[in-house]
Amino acid sequence: MKVTKFGGSSLANPEQIRKVKAIVESDSDRQVVVVSAPGKDDYIKQKVTDLLLAIAGENTKISYLNAVTMLQDRFMQICRAFNLSDLEKSILSEIDLLSEEPRDFIASRGEYWNAQIMAQVLGLPFFDAKNFISLKENNKPQLDLNKTASLLQELKGKRFVFPGFYGDFKGQIATFSRGGSDLTGSILAFALNAELYENWTDVNGLYYASPKIVTNPKTIPSLTYKELRELTYMGFEAFHDEAMFPLIKGRIPVRIKNTNNPDSPGTLISEHPGASETSISGIAAKPGFAYVEIEKYLMNSEKGFGMRVLKVFSDLGLSYEHAPSGIDNIAVILDGNNGFADKKEELTRRLTNELNPDYIGFQDNLALIAVVGRGMRSTPGIMSRISTTLAKNRINIELINQGPSETNVVLGIAEEDYQQGVRAIYDEFVLNTKGEDRK
Ligand code: ASP
Repeated sequence: MKVTKFGGSSLANPEQIRKVKAIVESDSDRQVVVVSAPGKDDYIKQKVTDLLLAIAGENTKISYLNAVTMLQDRFMQICRAFNLSDLEKSILSEIDLLSEEPRDFIASRGEYWNAQIMAQVLGLPFFDAKNFISLKENNKPQLDLNKTASLLQELKGKRFVFPGFYGDFKGQIATFSRGGSDLTGSILAFALNAELYENWTDVNGLYYASPKIVTNPKTIPSLTYKELRELTYMGFEAFHDEAMFPLIKGRIPVRIKNTNNPDSPGTLISEHPGASETSISGIAAKPGFAYVEIEKYLMNSEKGFGMRVLKVFSDLGLSYEHAPSGIDNIAVILDGNNGFADKKEELTRRLTNELNPDYIGFQDNLALIAVVGRGMRSTPGIMSRISTTLAKNRINIELINQGPSETNVVLGIAEEDYQQGVRAIYDEFVLNTKGEDRK
């Protein structure tokens, strides 16, 4: 049995909904259908959730009246296309009363109404997430995975449609953070022990590199959970942050698929997807980092030096990303936007007093490129190919960090060069695979 989740772009208008119906009906294993609220398309510029948030007073870019009119129009259009006149009436009257309700209740209605529409379109029962998805207090309301999994047992073996994005918190509707329908789908896949979690969207899968940097990047055929984690940490847009956790716990494979191109195989993410097709599985990159370089002669023979360096950063509330070191120096790489700029003076004072270094230097405007791939482990010469490629493009590598798993190399590069760097690595490893994997 498969849990099949459709994102907002897959359900943005009647034409998309027809595609979704054909997809669900083409495979009898697609038993559980999780839906987002209708999203954007080429003509409709606002997601339903954004309109709802305008009604809740949270999205000030759209006036209350415009939001109500746009919402009414969208649900009328969809309901009329599928002859759902009773549902249309009830949704329109609920829209009229919405502004009196709490924020999360309002925000959740896009999924709530859309799941009812899809249930009727598909001729399947609708189950409300408020009765099954339970949130608990943990600084902020957060998924209670155990309680939710036990509540969902009641739905085992059934075919149904289920709204994403929200659940129950102490008797009230509470939403996850934006994009949270991914999480709902993954909880259902975990609790019902699905053989596959399908996540349908509007792209053929995950790309080897961001399409904002590389033109028409190729789609990654398969990834491990770990590779995906490394790539999303460095800015890959794949899933809602928390959605991978239940899947990893239940070892449920995920396939990202394209509603507009269902025959394309998509990207499979699982624990052991087999050998990778190329020695790298993805290139993620992010600007906005900075580093502090600390140098001291015979540093490596001084016990606890690294620990004391990192303690200074932690005392000042600065968390670090990486700390590559040489024999007499260490670089501490930080997110440059986390208040680091205001703490430089205090950092210098504390590091000087406590470590008596020979040199302290600050470097801003650093970008990090993460080259990730399980295939790197068994292939010698990857690092040399990366550095030769960058050298050919006159790009200097300021720092390098490779973790012990050998599936991830992080390169520190000047911000002005990083996009060119990503393109060069992509061309070398993904586009021109001629010299690739002579295994
Ligand atoms: N509709 C919600 C949003 O736009 C949740 C989701 O689509 O996953 O963020």
